[in-house]
Amino acid sequence: MHDPTIPSVNIGVVGHVDHGKTTLVSGITGTWTDRHSEELKRGISIRLGYADATFYRCLSCAEGDSYSVSATCPECGGKTEPVRSVSFVDAPGHETLMATMLSGSAIMDGAMLIIAANEPCPQPQTKEHLMALELTGITRIVIVQNKIDVVTQQAALENYKQIKKFIKGTVAENAPIIPVSAQKKINFSSLIAAVNETIPEIEGDPNKPPVLLIARSFDINKPGSKWKDIRGGVIGGSLIRGLLHDGDEIEIRPGRQHTIENKTKWEPIRTKVSSMHMGSKKIAVATPGGLTGIGTKLDPAITKSDTLVGQVAGHPDQLPPVWDKLKFDVTLMERVVGATSEQLIEPLKHKEPLMLSVGTAVTVGVVTGTKKNSVEVVLKRPVCAEVGSRIAISRQVGGRWRLIGMGVLTE
Ligand code: GDP
Ligand code: MG
Repeated sequence: MHDPTIPSVNIGVVGHVDHGKTTLVSGITGTWTDRHSEELKRGISIRLGYADATFYRCLSCAEGDSYSVSATCPECGGKTEPVRSVSFVDAPGHETLMATMLSGSAIMDGAMLIIAANEPCPQPQTKEHLMALELTGITRIVIVQNKIDVVTQQAALENYKQIKKFIKGTVAENAPIIPVSAQKKINFSSLIAAVNETIPEIEGDPNKPPVLLIARSFDINKPGSKWKDIRGGVIGGSLIRGLLHDGDEIEIRPGRQHTIENKTKWEPIRTKVSSMHMGSKKIAVATPGGLTGIGTKLDPAITKSDTLVGQVAGHPDQLPPVWDKLKFDVTLMERVVGATSEQLIEPLKHKEPLMLSVGTAVTVGVVTGTKKNSVEVVLKRPVCAEVGSRIAISRQVGGRWRLIGMGVLTE
């Protein structure tokens, strides 16, 4: 059993731009995840946003009304008990930010696909995000039909039918569809109940060496701090297996880039875990599912401004290999989605540039060999990944990276 106040799953929040993802996360968690000045100015999410929530169940209300995020029941004012906690990963919905969405999908254990009820369904990134979930193997999905406060009941029903038609034959075919208003906080109890049911806690294998996908990294010191008050670099991410303990020696791969006589080399970084947090709690052991924040002894200059995003942390000499060339089996889709015109997808070509998402890493490379269903791509930046990893493949179509298929790393 997990501690119900420590997040045990990451729930992706995906969907078309402006459909209400950030508003929904804010409505549930109280945290507005758009923090960067550019995000606030333009009113759109650019980076991945993170926020945690604890779900509570009322001891006296009926099942449908019993869930909330509050220690006293908002329905009856009675006592509630904590059921479990989750971390939300708020993805940007703009078409130019698919790489960020794909990077986030590597750490999602399940997802909420947000669809605004006041627009025809599907919008381009509603399709592209659902496809990304499908290609990255995320099967636990709750569909959130948002903005029901601005449509008539008749229009909501029409929109529901469009959603049903859209998800037919996809990984989300049997996903629950929950109508809500993120802004007015309507029907959150049903939404939490559906999430609770559809996206269960995951049990990692504690006996395997830990593999942590890094999704953020920062320098938490205020400018001008005295040297003796400086705290080591912080990394955040999710364990996909194994356990990490406070005080563990860790290695981060691919690590740091060195250029010696025009030759670039990557060297793993070694350090020590000096503290760990999940949610707002200090913990001694990190487990898979949910986001873990890890304090290290690293120079904060190494971790500042998400520098280490896409890298992998674990015990020294126990991490998956680092590749500067990836060979993988490819499955391409039939058509490009996410653009207004849906062109056919041609086979991969020799020398064409591709964008590959592997774990939380996003890297660009050039095709150097194609054979039947297998390709080889030489990367600009190496990635740390194990054989069998899924790779989301994007290609330039009409000046934009478009998701076109997936691969499985072979050797
Ligand atoms: P995102 O791009 O999916 O993260 O969308 P945002 O959360 O930034 O919301 C986009 C716009 O829709 C904002 O102006 C929100 O205030 C508005 N919005 C979000 N949810 C609702 C809702 O349930 N009802 C109404 N009326 N507006 C909403
Ligand atoms: Mg947003």
